[in-house]
Amino acid sequence: MKRTSHIPELREMIAQGKNRGRVIALVPTMGYLHRGHLALVERAKETGAFVVLSIFVNPLQFGPKEDYSRYPRDLERDARLVEDAGVDVLFHPTAEEMYPRSMVTYVEVGQLDSMLCGAARPGHLRGVATVVSKLFHIVQPDLAFFGQKDYQQYLIIRRMASDLNLPIEICSVPIVREEDGLALSSRNAFLTPEQRREAVILSQSLNEAETCLRAGERSAREIEKQLRDRISRQCHGVIDYVEVRDAGDLSEVTIIERPVLIALAVKFGATRLIDNKVVEVDPHV
Ligand code: AMP
Repeated sequence: MKRTSHIPELREMIAQGKNRGRVIALVPTMGYLHRGHLALVERAKETGAFVVLSIFVNPLQFGPKEDYSRYPRDLERDARLVEDAGVDVLFHPTAEEMYPRSMVTYVEVGQLDSMLCGAARPGHLRGVATVVSKLFHIVQPDLAFFGQKDYQQYLIIRRMASDLNLPIEICSVPIVREEDGLALSSRNAFLTPEQRREAVILSQSLNEAETCLRAGERSAREIEKQLRDRISRQCHGVIDYVEVRDAGDLSEVTIIERPVLIALAVKFGATRLIDNKVVEVDPHV
């Protein structure tokens, strides 16, 4: 595996892959890698592509009171993991490499930024879309891989690629979970043992919401209410949002008739966890 923190050197490495006729795949991450990230690499490898994985904790997507400086980092451990996973090039730029001067040009994500994580973290999704756009221009991949754990982010990137005619196929990968159901996240490392035990309620309550839907409940508000009640009764986490939205465009839903995204964000102390589930309803139930 080759690695670099410099954009010109990265471009040379990628050119070598392209010269050998390889399709280029990009897996953007913020590092502190776990099996969720490695599932993205695995899917990218399955396509036979030349795989570039980026590790960049992007300051542009963190609010002033958020955890940018304390976000977990361990580059050498990550480098070993991605080398073992068969990544061809690891790109780990510094903030100065990505933002040599203050930015005046951004990617705005319109109404998709106004709900869920966008409402809770103003500017976050604009920061994500902007850095992913920069990475797309730097790497010029044919394919890019995103996890459904950050479903809103995945939809925004897919929409950005379509709106801006980017010649990149945006691929999504299902959420990878711990054995007890907790979605893997770099931020799980911050949980105290008690918070870690309680956090399992997130996936459990999403599973229950799915069961409820499959049993015939069609009211989005009722599903949200049940989820909220269960979470606030059974753990010390503070709910940021619990919402049922259209899985295709995140529009509001009252009566559930099409595939929906059930999404939630809950804060355990200073650690904010997100999880979601996409459920397709059977119109005959
Ligand atoms: P992050 O490093 O948290 O920015 O995540 C980088 C990429 O990995 C994003 O596309 C995430 O959606 C994806 N990812 C993170 N956690 C998981 C997980 N548990 N399962 C699947 N994909 C994930």
